[in-house]
Amino acid sequence: MLEEYKKKRSFRKTPEPEGNLSAGRRGKKQIFVVQEHHAKNLHWDFRLEMDGVLKSWAILKGPPEKVGEKKLAVQVEDHPLEYKDFHGVIPEGQYGAGKVIIWNRGTYELLRRDQETIEFLLHGNRLKGVFVLFHPVKFEPKNWLILKKR
Ligand code: MN
Repeated sequence: MLEEYKKKRSFRKTPEPEGNLSAGRRGKKQIFVVQEHHAKNLHWDFRLEMDGVLKSWAILKGPPEKVGEKKLAVQVEDHPLEYKDFHGVIPEGQYGAGKVIIWNRGTYELLRRDQETIEFLLHGNRLKGVFVLFHPVKFEPKNWLILKKR
């Protein structure tokens, strides 16, 4: 699952973690993190701990903060769990070059997960409440919508 992540990066040149598949963290709360990423196009990387990795989506204008607000979330490659702590500067010339800031981080509870929907309750200081990631089958493979439900 981390093949694409590793293929895109040169770990001798970037401070990002190389990471390995985690055996899972049974019994522990699952985490989420949102990283503000000042790459060529500013975006917010929204990541959920799931299946031993961080499932990741890029959101262009920041995650929805008001109930009913929805944003396009483009799925990107899975990241290693250690990435939850990453902040710093990815050097010029490297994949995703630019500054990364941890915008919010916390735990979450998974409420529902099926083919088209991931619904979860976030416990962050900025993002809190029930959110849904939608991926109707008619959508482009990487395009999802993220909605703040309540
Ligand atoms: Mn990014």
